Amino acid sequence: MSDSKEPSGGWSVALQETAGFAPVETVAGQKGAGVLVICDHAANDMPAHYGNLGLSRADLARHIAWDIGAAQVTRELAAKLGAPAVLTRFSRLLIDANRGADDPTLVMRLSDGRVIPGNAHIDAEEIERRRRLYWQLYRRAIGAEIETMMKRGEIPAVVSIHSFTPVFKGTTRPWQVSVLWDSDARLAAPLIAALRAEGLDVGDNEPYDGALKGDTLDDEVTSRGLAGCLIELRQDLIAEPQRAAAWADRLARILLPILARQELHRCDFRPSRTGRHIGGRIAGISPGSA
Ligand SMILES: [Zn+2]
Repeated sequence: MSDSKEPSGGWSVALQETAGFAPVETVAGQKGAGVLVICDHAANDMPAHYGNLGLSRADLARHIAWDIGAAQVTRELAAKLGAPAVLTRFSRLLIDANRGADDPTLVMRLSDGRVIPGNAHIDAEEIERRRRLYWQLYRRAIGAEIETMMKRGEIPAVVSIHSFTPVFKGTTRPWQVSVLWDSDARLAAPLIAALRAEGLDVGDNEPYDGALKGDTLDDEVTSRGLAGCLIELRQDLIAEPQRAAAWADRLARILLPILARQELHRCDFRPSRTGRHIGGRIAGISPGSA
C-alpha cells in the first residue's frame, strides 16, 4: 500500500495532467489538535478542459454539483478546533470523492433527474483517469495528514462535513443535522446526544447510512481504527455565510469537550458493518496505488 505517497511520477506530473488544476485544498492545523476535518463535496469546480461537463454555471451552483455551505463550515470549524482540514476542489460530478474506487456511482451519468452531458458516454479509461488524478489525490492527502499526525504520537479523530437537501424526491427531510456512523460510536454517540440536548431534530444514520463500503471514512478512518463520523447539515441552514458561521461555532463548542475524551485517541478496530476491516486495515483499498 502506498496511500500517503506521491502518485507515480510525482505531484508535478499530476499537476501537468490536470492542466494546473490542484484537486485538493489543505488547511494547516496546530500540533496536538487531535482532530482532522474533511470535506468530500466542498467544491463545484473542475478543470477548464472539462467545459463544466456540458452544464451551465447555474446547474453547477445546485446541490447536484457539491454540498452547499459545507466548505465554509469545514474551514471555520477547523479553525476553531485548531485542526488541519482537507477539502476537495473538484465537483462530485467530475468524480465523487466519497464513493469507493469501484463504486458504480463514482461518476454519475444522471443526477437528481438531470443528465450530465460530459459523463453520459464516459468510458472506463476516463473514469480511471479521473480516479487517479482527482479522487486518489484527495484520498492520499487525507491519508498523509493522518499519518503525519500519528507519527508525532497524535491519534486523531476525524470529522467529515457534508450537507443534504431539505427536500428529496418530494419528501421533506425533518432533521436539521444528522450524524452518520458505522460501528464505532465513540464520536457519534456523544455527538448525537449533545446535539439533541440543544433541542435539535437530529438524524441518526439518516438520510443515509454511515456504513458505506469504500467511502472516505471507511477507507481512511475505520480502516485505521480511528474514531470518526460524518456530520450532515441541512443545506437551507448553512447556505448563507452568517448561518454557516453560526453552525461552525455551535459544532466547535459541542465537539471540543467530546474530543477531549481519551478514548477517542486510541486505535480501536471494530469490524465495519460493510464487512471490511476485520482485524484491522485491509490491503488493496486503493486499486492502482500499490
Ligand atoms: Zn456530501
